[in-house]
This record gives sequence, structure tokens and C-alpha cells, in this order.
Amino acid sequence: MITKVIPEEQIIAVLKLIHKASKVAIVSHKRPDGDAIGSSLALYHFLYTQGKEATVILPDGIPGFFKSLPSADNIINYETRPDIAKKVLDECDLLFCLDFNFPNRVGDLENLIVECKAKKVLVDHHRNHGDFCDVTISHPEIASTSELIFRLICRMGYFQDMSLECAQCICNGMLTDTGGLAFNSNEPDMYSIFYELLKKGVDKDAIYRQAFNNYSENRMRLMGYVLYNKMKVYNEYHTAVITLNYKEMQQFGYQPGDSEGFVNMPLSIDHVFVSIFLKEEKDIIKLSFRSQGTFDVNVMAKELFGGGGHINASGAEYKGTMEETLKIVEEAIPKFYQKFRN
Ligand code: 5GP
Ligand code: MN
Repeated sequence: MITKVIPEEQIIAVLKLIHKASKVAIVSHKRPDGDAIGSSLALYHFLYTQGKEATVILPDGIPGFFKSLPSADNIINYETRPDIAKKVLDECDLLFCLDFNFPNRVGDLENLIVECKAKKVLVDHHRNHGDFCDVTISHPEIASTSELIFRLICRMGYFQDMSLECAQCICNGMLTDTGGLAFNSNEPDMYSIFYELLKKGVDKDAIYRQAFNNYSENRMRLMGYVLYNKMKVYNEYHTAVITLNYKEMQQFGYQPGDSEGFVNMPLSIDHVFVSIFLKEEKDIIKLSFRSQGTFDVNVMAKELFGGGGHINASGAEYKGTMEETLKIVEEAIPKFYQKFRN
């Protein structure tokens, strides 16, 4: 028996909204990861089994290794098809916001979702949340939004209707947000859910391979390059920083998603428990923070750069040069290490 997490009144509220709706839009955060894409496509497949016209809209493109997820081809990328995305958001009578907590996490889609006239439902597992939805299902204690989608579908009484495609997408999100069950994965319920997904016919091992072992040769060589040349270890502070600039990315024929997972690598060094990855992007530096144990990188991302996320995995953006961003990070490392020690 899986414990009840989402309050009953929210389950009923969402059920009513789905019953009333015919056109449903689903939006998730920019630079979508496996959970953003997995939860969105899982809900999409579920809504189709209920006779709804569902559309997934993402602020930008999806990494190549998620393109094999069922119906990934049907996702509308706002960057390349803004007119269709606008039309869908104009015409929908229900909007699901998945795997993000504040409207600014959807980049240029922000105004469109805030001004969208449809009823809105948030399903998310990041810490804190904005108040922009009619129903807010926010559970930071749950490892993935995909798991929350599984829970939502079951609690609404539709487990029997869950298609194999829906189950595959949920499995993808649950696996990717736990690094293949390597972190945030001690909750026993999670394994009851995997049991149900496997019984639906999901090939978990194949989904793992698609998500984690499906990279290009270029990406592997770029990884070797950054680990050898660009990883700085601050031994005294048990912290490592990797930087990657645009020129280096070009040198390795960088494709979206190619630096996925780089931030986790330094954590396999025995004495490193904080890892920070800085990547040059158009006009900004994108920062990723990871930690092990009780070191709270969410606080670090928030205080230094107005970012956020989870205790052990957070992100932020900074409008500045690589040198400026690195300076802020390097100055903060001893301070945050001290704070954590106390
Ligand atoms: P990643 O480092 O993989 O991009 O993100 C790690 C976590 O932090 C994810 O849960 C993601 O949603 C969150 N995150 C990433 N970038 C940002 C950001 O710019 N702002 C906020 N608030 N959260 C972010
Ligand atoms: Mn997530």
C-alpha cells in the first residue's frame, strides 16, 4: 500500500477540473530534464486515455537522449514554434504547470502562463512555490514530479487506465531525478511504485540506458577534457568547481544536453561533497550545484544568485562574465563551508 501524500481535497479538485476540460496544456521548465519531460509526457498520455486534447509546451528544446520517449515528437518548443504555443495557451481550458515552482522558471513563456485564462494546476517537488495556480500540489519531500503524477493518477482512480507509454515516462522521470536510484531514493514507496510500473510492462533497464548511456563520443571527450583541465578542487573546503566556456563547447561540437551530469562527477572523489558547475550560455552563466548529505546548496544558489532547487541539487543563472561569476563562487566557498560546519 502506497501512503497518501496529496491531500484528498486536491485530488477531487483536479479530478473535477479534468472532467470539465477538453483542451489541456502542459508546461514545464526551461532546459528541461528527464523529470520535466517525463512528468509532462506521462500526464499527456494519461489525458489522451481520458479523451482530452493535451499539448505539452516547453520553453526550449529537449536533449537528444529524451527524444525516444513516447510522443516526445509532439512536444511544442516555444523557441521554434511560438505561434502554436500561444494558440494552445489561448485556447486551453486547463493548464498544468509541472516540475517548477515560480513562473520565471519557464523563461519567455512566463507572461503567457501568468496571463493564461484557464484554470491552473501546479504539480511540483521544489522547495517553496509561487501562488499563481488554482490548485498547488507541492511536495519537496517527493523525489520527482513524475512520482507525483503517478500518485495523482492512482488517487484519482485511474491506475487501470495508465498506458504503458504513460508508465514509461513516469519511470524516466523517477530514474533521472534520482540519478538512477543513486540519491533521494530511500523512500520505500518509490519501490512500490516501480513494482507497479514494471508490472505495466516497463523495461526499466532500457529506460536507464536511454537516459544515462546514450551520449555522443564528443560528449565523452568533452567530459574527459573538463575533468582533466577544468576541475578545480578546493580540498580544504571539500568543494570542486568545473567551468566550461563557449569556445571549449564549440571545440567539442557541443549539443544541448552534452554537459548533463558533469556536475555530479566530482562528488565521486572521496572528500568532495559539494560540486559546482559553471557553463557559459547566451548572455548568462548557468550554474549547477550538487552536494552530498546535509550541505544545503539550495541556500547557496538562492543567496548568491537568486536561484533555487533542492537541498542536494540546485541551479541558478547569473548575468555576468565567467570570471565575475567564478569570483563570487570562489569567495563564497569558505563562507558557506564555515556556515555548514557550524
Ligand atoms: P540543474 O543544475 O540540473 O540545472 O538544476 C538542479 C535543480 O535546480 C533542478 O531541480 C532545477 O529545477 C533547479 N534549478 C536549475 N536552475 C535554476 C534556476 O535558474 N533557478 C531556480 N530557482 N532553480 C533552478
Ligand atoms: Mn524534477
